[in-house]
Amino acid sequence: MKPSPISPTVDFDRDGVQHGFLKLPYSRDAAAWGAVMIPVTVVRNGSGPTALLTGANHGDEYEGAVALRKLTDTLTPEQVRGRVIIVPFLNFPAFRAGTRTSPIDKGNLNRSFPGKPDGTVTEKIADYIQRHLLPLADYVLDIHSGGKTLDFLPFAAIHVLDDKAQEARCQMAMDAFGAPYSMHMLELDSVGMFDTAAEEAGKVFVSTELGGGGTATARSIAIAERGVRDFLIHCGICQGEASQRQSIKLDMPDGDCYVASTHDGLLEMCVDLGDPVNTGDVVGRVYDVTRTGSAPVEYRAARGGILAARHFPGLISVGDTLAVIADVVG
Ligand SMILES: [Zn+2]
Repeated sequence: MKPSPISPTVDFDRDGVQHGFLKLPYSRDAAAWGAVMIPVTVVRNGSGPTALLTGANHGDEYEGAVALRKLTDTLTPEQVRGRVIIVPFLNFPAFRAGTRTSPIDKGNLNRSFPGKPDGTVTEKIADYIQRHLLPLADYVLDIHSGGKTLDFLPFAAIHVLDDKAQEARCQMAMDAFGAPYSMHMLELDSVGMFDTAAEEAGKVFVSTELGGGGTATARSIAIAERGVRDFLIHCGICQGEASQRQSIKLDMPDGDCYVASTHDGLLEMCVDLGDPVNTGDVVGRVYDVTRTGSAPVEYRAARGGILAARHFPGLISVGDTLAVIADVVG
């Protein structure tokens, strides 16, 4: 395979703190010999495990971006044994545009793995992560939230994996992150995900969904910051006493968890995030906005549980996920 066009301006094997870039040449109208400069920080102190911490894999998700951008200012080599690689804005073009996907090529980074060294800008970023960053890492934390179109209960998540020993290691790292909710997910759309790439490479991988709506709150940022700290303690990279936080365990075992809209229209949510839902309950109604005097379409829960995610905007389209109902398992 061709070499990656991305070159780091940091030396991942050097002790100390380095702030630099992953430099991806990108010739365009505004800069003939320009480049996409993805900020990266490396904090290393001797041998030990490596944690790769990433935010803004989707460009409109901000908890990871804020928590990790702050961490690049505060983490010192004295606090570290081993190495922490921090990329707060992973899909940098998307992050700068405030959009889920890249404005350059419409690439969804989390559906672009393993990427291509000679592909689109987004595929080149994925390829660099796949072949150059992932092999450095023992632990990977990829901080997501709902973006502009979804809102989530704050949870950390792991996937059901074939390798149960690896799944157990991921579970322990998720427990250490200590979000208010912890989700065991059966992924329905796993092809091309960073998650899948990291899991298939045998890494301890934890992702999150910490909120949404295209912004972050003081509360959701605090969850991310505490979670990152305790994740690094769990990795054996940072010292300290991990907080003991209660996390409600959730499960999304099958496709019945998802309620999808088959109509365009005006959305009336009938339950809020965290509310209990029984099988058959109306979770939302969609109104035809081209006329008055017609009954709304009711969307009912195919299973019981709690509302874990919802469509965020007031208008909804055919095919949009309206609600996600998760099982409370502990
Ligand atoms: Zn995301």
